[in-house]
Amino acid sequence: MSKMKFKTEVNQLLDLLIHSLYSHPEIFLRELISNSSDALDKIKYLTLTDASFKDYKLDPRVDIELDEKDHKTMIIRDSGIGMNKEDLVDSLGTIARSGTKNFLSQLSGDAKKDSSLIGQFGVGFYSIFMVADKVDVISRKAGEDTAWKWTSDGKQGFSIDEAERETAGTTVILHLNEQGREMDSKWEIENIVKKYSNHIAFPIYLHYEKTEWEGEGDDRKDKKVPTIEQVNSASALWRRSKKEISDEEYTEFYKSSFGSYDEPMLRIHTKAEGTLEYSTLFFIPEKAPMDLYQADYKSGVKLYVKRVFITDDDKELIPSYLRFVRGIIDSEDLPLNISRELLQKNKVLASIKKASTKKILGELKTLSEDKEKYTAFIEQYNRPLKEGVYSDYENKTELLELVRFKSTKEEGWVSLKEYRDRMGADQKAIYYIAGDKESILRSSPLLQDYKKKDIEVLILDDEIDEIVMPMVGPYEEMPLKAVNKSGASDDLKSDEDKKKEEDLKPLAEKIKSALGDAVKEVKISTRLHDVSSCIVADENDPSAQIQQMMKAMGQGDMPAPKPILEVNPDHDVVKKLAETSDKDLESDISWILLDQALLIEGAEIEDRKAFAERMNRLISKGL
Ligand code: ADP
Repeated sequence: MSKMKFKTEVNQLLDLLIHSLYSHPEIFLRELISNSSDALDKIKYLTLTDASFKDYKLDPRVDIELDEKDHKTMIIRDSGIGMNKEDLVDSLGTIARSGTKNFLSQLSGDAKKDSSLIGQFGVGFYSIFMVADKVDVISRKAGEDTAWKWTSDGKQGFSIDEAERETAGTTVILHLNEQGREMDSKWEIENIVKKYSNHIAFPIYLHYEKTEWEGEGDDRKDKKVPTIEQVNSASALWRRSKKEISDEEYTEFYKSSFGSYDEPMLRIHTKAEGTLEYSTLFFIPEKAPMDLYQADYKSGVKLYVKRVFITDDDKELIPSYLRFVRGIIDSEDLPLNISRELLQKNKVLASIKKASTKKILGELKTLSEDKEKYTAFIEQYNRPLKEGVYSDYENKTELLELVRFKSTKEEGWVSLKEYRDRMGADQKAIYYIAGDKESILRSSPLLQDYKKKDIEVLILDDEIDEIVMPMVGPYEEMPLKAVNKSGASDDLKSDEDKKKEEDLKPLAEKIKSALGDAVKEVKISTRLHDVSSCIVADENDPSAQIQQMMKAMGQGDMPAPKPILEVNPDHDVVKKLAETSDKDLESDISWILLDQALLIEGAEIEDRKAFAERMNRLISKGL
């Protein structure tokens, strides 16, 4: 007998699982059945694709044996692919692999102790210790002769011994604890299976003792009859006609197939018959999946071929910006033994992917007509759609209709179309202001002129905006312009304004010579009101976000581009500066104009001490 210890962090994790997530102990069964179903998918796949398994006798099923008399054990057995010694050590000895740390950090602190986390981090198997003190897993791998028994109390470690099992597959024997004993009834288990695992593609049989009555009157006696009954419907829901499926069935399918606990926000069920034959069933979760912005996110779409599960680990099944979609693609036209490499080049799959993308975007368009529902969608998924604007050239037009922005004109979310439809006839562009903090953007002095002239400005505070917006190009022939970049500054000015700016050029030069290389350019600007100055970026300079990205990609540390300083010639301070010929005063005011503008922008000023000294000099002059 070999005894081994669990790998690190397991104890801590088990403790958390067992104690923090106690609210849904029944999910242990969903986890076990889903493991069995995966194992059955795998063996089925082998018999269809691997010549050495051609004659394999497959009887795919899951059996659950109750012990309603003594409540000592519960047995879950499958005829799946099974595990050999190495598999047992690797799969059940190291839990959650890369996910463990993540899982722990999600649970600590104020994080919601939500049992839906369990499945997401692949610690499913360990949920059995919510209902058992000790577990034996007896498994024999298909194609091998030896069976193995893995035993653990979920605390210290596990042991592995040789064992007996007539055929390939896995038997999990739970030695029930108090919690488990409470659930050990036909009624309870049947409900749990129906709730979580009804659409599992294989039959799940329940072994229990049925009560039958014999005799009449006083002689009437009950008798326990061993009974085996299938408890799940085992139908591929997505193959059935939409009309026959109730909302509850869809939701239950979504929950059981994708380990979710929420109600989907949207479902899209399609059956294509024609040159290509396939069914798709997609769901959009109510809440964005937690790994949405992780590079190693889990794909949410499963591929089936003629009802046989092929993979749920292919990120190519749907464009990556739609990675929040959960669902199933089931094709009649693909070969079963398609390899991963071929999958990616496959024409059939490419057309399914293309049609599915169009379908999903089309349904979102329909959803957008319901403002309340669409707002809920946008709150979760605006950013991935923006990624689509950037990455899916073919559907850019559709995606531009779907993304939303904050605006100076109204609360909530605004579409480009709404903006375009209500803008003034003589307006030359669609204006936006981009940066990383909404409150700073909204109070930017640059917006004053637009407000005065009643021109709407979109507020772009998502870090992805600065990457996406330059890709948008004109929307319905209207160019998009950032008001905090040099390119938009002339649009709103009258000829008179322009002349004034031209006449005051010497003042601009005076300030520039005081500031030297700290700024790229100084401009006299008639678009400022109330404030004395502001900074904008040169249109041709990379944005702060882009610079950060380049740095992260190891593209060197380029010097930060210098801002352009715009100065309001009607402001008292600026007028004073124009009048004076005192060099020191010129320098102090010029620097204050720059530093103030930076502060208003939420940017850092280079020399805070010098700033304070200048302020003090000027204040004491005034006192
Ligand atoms: P997950 O299912 O998320 O990978 P689990 O902890 O539930 O995580 O299972 C770990 C691994 O153990 C599975 O990925 C699988 O390889 C193996 N396994 C678990 N149950 C079975 C089973 N009934 N038959 C075959 N392999 C299994």
